Amino acid sequence: MFKRILALLFAINLILIVIAFSADHERGFIVRFFDVGQGDAIYIRTEKKQDILIDGGPDDTVLSKLGEAMPFYDRDIDILIISHPHADHITGALAVLKQYRVKTVYFSGAEHTTYQYLELLRFLEEQKEIVKVKVDHPINLQLSGETALSFLYPDFDVSSPLAPSFIKNNLNNTSVVVKLTHKGHSALLTGDIGKEVEEYMLLQGVDVSAHLLKIAHQGSRFSSGEPFLRAVHPQFVVIFVGQNNYGHPHAETLDRLRSLGIKFLRTDKEGDIEFSLE
Ligand SMILES: [Zn+2]
Repeated sequence: MFKRILALLFAINLILIVIAFSADHERGFIVRFFDVGQGDAIYIRTEKKQDILIDGGPDDTVLSKLGEAMPFYDRDIDILIISHPHADHITGALAVLKQYRVKTVYFSGAEHTTYQYLELLRFLEEQKEIVKVKVDHPINLQLSGETALSFLYPDFDVSSPLAPSFIKNNLNNTSVVVKLTHKGHSALLTGDIGKEVEEYMLLQGVDVSAHLLKIAHQGSRFSSGEPFLRAVHPQFVVIFVGQNNYGHPHAETLDRLRSLGIKFLRTDKEGDIEFSLE
């Protein structure tokens, strides 16, 4: 069972994108951006064999993707991060919660009244053994001696009346933002945040710099402003986007990336995109 994946070599060898074989579960540290169409699903397997999933995409495609990525006997997801309540992020996450033994869920606790989100909250409420962590302050999770997962945003309670106005009526701005670091390499994973959150993080002095950036919101022009892209200063950008994409990624975003000399990879063109952090 071979999977076609592009092979690209980093000039400086910081991160190596390898040709992935679906049975190759024993390699070191991987970050795989699942091609789930128009939506996000990021799978991380650490050297210590911890399984982390960030969002689940718009349907249950993520289940077959996890089936390829994880050994068949491994039914545990150590950490599930739900960036925000939109269907293209949570639908697959709920499927994963039902099919896998998820140990800890991180989410911002944003309010939203769609059937899917309410079902997800109900399911989480019922499953008493799942640890639920509301991200309303910076959290630094040391996963091993050389690996850390830092929750950078939100650093306030998104459901508080005192929360900044830019989260009102814009659920995308409640997205949990995390930075993964491993042996000096880093990846910034931004959910669907808009420019308002980018500006907020820069004003707060958050260190957003990273080698790899999962660009926000399918490459929307309302995200990924130039000051933010300059501050992140990524070598690679990954864009989650489907064939039916409502015009995503926007041309303005791609122009900004090109003018800054940042290479980008798209899931609609490449399929699954995997980085192996050595
Ligand atoms: Zn969204």
